[in-house]
Amino acid sequence: MNAADQAVSEIPNDRTLDSIYDQLLEEDLKNHLTDYLNKRITKRQAVDRIFRTADRFNEEYAPLYKTLVQDLDLGYPLLFQYNLLSIGIVNYPEIDTVFYKSDTARSRIFGEHFEPGLSRQTHLSRTYDTNQIIEKRADSIFTNTYDFEIRMEQRIQVPNSEILVLRRMWVLIVGSVVVFLFVIGLLYYSIKNLITQKNIAEVKTDFINNVTHELKTPLATLGIATKSLRNPVIRADREAFDKTLSIVERQHLRLQKLIDQVLTKSLKAEELSLHKEQVSDNDFFKNLLADFETATQHASLEIDNQIYPQEVLLRIDRFHLTTALFNILENAVKYGKDQVKILVKSYMHQGQYLIEIKDQGIGISLKDQKAIFDKFYRAQTGNVHTVKGLGLGLYFTHQIITAHGGTISLTSLKGEGTTFIITLPIS
Ligand code: ADP
Repeated sequence: MNAADQAVSEIPNDRTLDSIYDQLLEEDLKNHLTDYLNKRITKRQAVDRIFRTADRFNEEYAPLYKTLVQDLDLGYPLLFQYNLLSIGIVNYPEIDTVFYKSDTARSRIFGEHFEPGLSRQTHLSRTYDTNQIIEKRADSIFTNTYDFEIRMEQRIQVPNSEILVLRRMWVLIVGSVVVFLFVIGLLYYSIKNLITQKNIAEVKTDFINNVTHELKTPLATLGIATKSLRNPVIRADREAFDKTLSIVERQHLRLQKLIDQVLTKSLKAEELSLHKEQVSDNDFFKNLLADFETATQHASLEIDNQIYPQEVLLRIDRFHLTTALFNILENAVKYGKDQVKILVKSYMHQGQYLIEIKDQGIGISLKDQKAIFDKFYRAQTGNVHTVKGLGLGLYFTHQIITAHGGTISLTSLKGEGTTFIITLPIS
């Protein structure tokens, strides 16, 4: 709008327009005012006549104004109005207002009609002039003069200027929104990264603490055992010597297993080389559950075997899949309550082989469920040592199932138990 103001500010000074305005003033307005002062017509009639003449002049004025606006090459349409604000007789014999602009009555001299709402005043003029008046007083004729003042304004309106402004600003607005979103995104990404890094650091510290703890006991036992072996009394006693030696062997084995666990269970799915073979599901689960029961030696372990009764041939790496399922079963015992009840169920669903392992243990919180398959992740930070572990079991299980082209997920309720659901493709 400001640009439009400036552009049209010079138009009222155009000579032709000025002369039309002068004609209106000279030829008509003065005559009507004199008639009014001579009481030949009323104020209202005088004003009506002025507007009527203005309409005649407008036929020339408006097109010319439009041409001048067009010459400015603004690039958008512009409407204009020349309005009469007031006409006042200044001193005949006193001040008399002939016309004063109101909201209801007409005030437009030139230009086109538009509501004043979104228009702007671009020019304000105040003209003083003097006119002669012939008076009749007691049969004599006098010539007198009177002064009058005319106030006019020029208004312009750019139709739909808000849309015009928006159109000009949209690049700026869109740009700002994009930059804003980018900054927010960057901030979100940085904070998320920071939290991830912090979590990784915590998980690593936990892992190191766990490994150190796991190493400490066998190392201490080895230390005591080797000291004992140097003791001549033990050396002399063959039975005691053999017993101590077997302690050394057992601790060595324990250390070896621990290191193997860290090495092998850290493998990624693509690093695993599977030796797949055709295996009957019934056979596989029968052996798996029997081995598990033997290995666990838990006083009150109850396994509810609901394996798919019909034989299904699976193409699996028997050794690795056993490890994967063992990890889940072992966890059911490790994170179970005094009575361990495990349901092992399998069935066919949408051309896939599904395995469900359900326990009634301590359950896993929703937050922990998200990270449970991450390397080194253990839910019980804080009292990590109540149950031994390196946070590698479920990571490795996940890698093995993925390497088989399957999926693993879980549902769990804290305090109620956990169900792991594994899908395996059928060969
Ligand atoms: P680890 O047992 O060596 O800590 P895992 O990868 O096997 O590592 O398990 C990761 C974590 O998941 C465990 O520390 C435990 O907190 C939680 N978890 C796994 N299985 C269960 C389960 N059946 N019930 C409750 N918590 C479990």
